[in-house]
Amino acid sequence: MSETEEAVAAEKESVPAADAVTPKVRRPKHWPKSSYDPHYDPVVDKGPGHNRDYAPTYWIGTAGTPPADDGPVSEDFDTDVAIIGSGYTGLSCAIHLAQNHGIEAVVLEANTVAWGCSTRNGGQAQISSGRLKRSEWIARWGVDVARRMHDEVTEAFEVFRELIGRDEIDCEPQEGGHLYLAHKPGAMPRLEKECALLNETFGYGSRILSRGEVHEKYVRDQEACGAMWEPDGTCIHAAKLAFGYLRLARKLGAKVHTGSPVLGWERVNGIHHLITPGGVVRAKSVALATAGYTPPGLNHVTRHRLMPILSNSIVTRPLEDDEKEACGFGTLSPLTDTRVLRHYYRMLPDGCVQIGSRSAVTGDDAENPKHLALLRAGLARKFPALEGIDLDYSWWGWVDVSHDMMPRIFCPDPGQSVFYAMGYGGNGVMYSAQAGRRMAQLVAGEESAAFDLPIFTSPLPSHGILTPFRRLGQRAMYYWYAFNDEKLGQKGRVQDEVPATDGGAGPSGGAGQ
Ligand SMILES: Cc1cc2nc3c(=O)[nH]c(=O)nc-3n(C[C@H](O)[C@H](O)[C@H](O)COP(=O)(O)OP(=O)(O)OC[C@H]3O[C@@H](n4cnc5c(N)ncnc54)[C@H](O)[C@@H]3O)c2cc1C
Repeated sequence: MSETEEAVAAEKESVPAADAVTPKVRRPKHWPKSSYDPHYDPVVDKGPGHNRDYAPTYWIGTAGTPPADDGPVSEDFDTDVAIIGSGYTGLSCAIHLAQNHGIEAVVLEANTVAWGCSTRNGGQAQISSGRLKRSEWIARWGVDVARRMHDEVTEAFEVFRELIGRDEIDCEPQEGGHLYLAHKPGAMPRLEKECALLNETFGYGSRILSRGEVHEKYVRDQEACGAMWEPDGTCIHAAKLAFGYLRLARKLGAKVHTGSPVLGWERVNGIHHLITPGGVVRAKSVALATAGYTPPGLNHVTRHRLMPILSNSIVTRPLEDDEKEACGFGTLSPLTDTRVLRHYYRMLPDGCVQIGSRSAVTGDDAENPKHLALLRAGLARKFPALEGIDLDYSWWGWVDVSHDMMPRIFCPDPGQSVFYAMGYGGNGVMYSAQAGRRMAQLVAGEESAAFDLPIFTSPLPSHGILTPFRRLGQRAMYYWYAFNDEKLGQKGRVQDEVPATDGGAGPSGGAGQ
């Protein structure tokens, strides 16, 4: 038996005995839904599962019933384009294929709609893609490419705003810009330098804020020594965004099949045969949108090209009035601190506080209480009034970090029929809308000068022979980052006054989760 046949047989065996007891009742292949697996680990597991339930997130808890989808694949069929993965990227690709190119694609999702990061994130839309700052773009590619990259993410924000303005997508957007908060005095000079660069080189109007101004107008974060404010920054409801994309994609003619993991992939006479438990989907082109949940064996073009990193997130119970007063949230828009192992946080419209940061290295260790304790300690350092507060939600998810910290929307196939868009490094809420649109353009064969950027012209880099040692390296880096974040740079000046760069330019780009 081949590996594919074994996987399909194992899936079929996992259909419960109830089917055998009542053989005449034809149940859908995904019956019943399997439970959420908190230990799932994309580096060691064969795949993300089959029709698993959602992670227990605030978003799923408050989004209401998900809109209808097209259920599992139940027979063999042909399609022009199959998209694997139904998160923001896959659904945006389906939307843009239908809307701009007249192609009604089929989306295949292993579990429930947007089961991966797209229903687990912090809901912060920032003007970046990948983890690098604008200064790092310049160091890597030079000023011209960096400027064009800036244009790309600026356009991406427009695409995102246009999408979330559609009637089908009610994701409760809260605009107000993004605050990048210095968590220690030594971080301020770096913020000031980046702010000046953004203003002078990119013409993007960001500002430096003093600690006093941050506390008075934005948030009484006790660590904050000052901040950089970027004009673009929107908080959204993560699951409502995904469900809105689903609604729009289906309205435009796409089919979204949940409970349909692609377990095997063969190419026969140039046609891709995607093997799911319910049938084989034969596609002329395949677009991969599986991000941090990409199974290592799915296709060699994405094998070990991403480093999945766990990020965890908590949501408190609604704050009491005195707690609200102590925390002083004057904004509902995105907040991030300057740690490398950064905290991303926000006040939710219902008065709860969400905060997230890095978590365990392996899926097996994800439930270890020490990771939750670390996050709680981070919350209490910023907001002492919230020390020990009851939590309503706690969850985690696998962020798709590429080895050079930038995403790729790329066609790795000489036959021009396999595409992927992934590697946002924790900055995918906003940019995935554009990445899906770009991937749709590539699939449709549209030519554009915009594609002359490294994120479109080169594949995701690989770690090569270092691949088996990546997690050892990750542990070592976590120790170093934690030491650097907490111990170094504590001396220096707290930004009490607004400096001369006020009124200047742009975004950090590096504030991924
Ligand atoms: C805790 C956390 C907080 C975050 N916070 C933010 C934030 O505040 N701002 C921000 O910009 N970004 C944030 N991110 C990152 C952001 O959520 C992602 O970049 C974005 O959701 C990626 O969307 P996607 O569609 O590319 O992938 P995903 O949403 O991960 O979707 C991939 C899908 O592929 C499916 N799949 C995988 N293999 C198969 C297969 N073989 N067959 C069928 N389906 C398959 C999976 O089931 C999954 O549903 C955060 C991520 C996490 C985990």
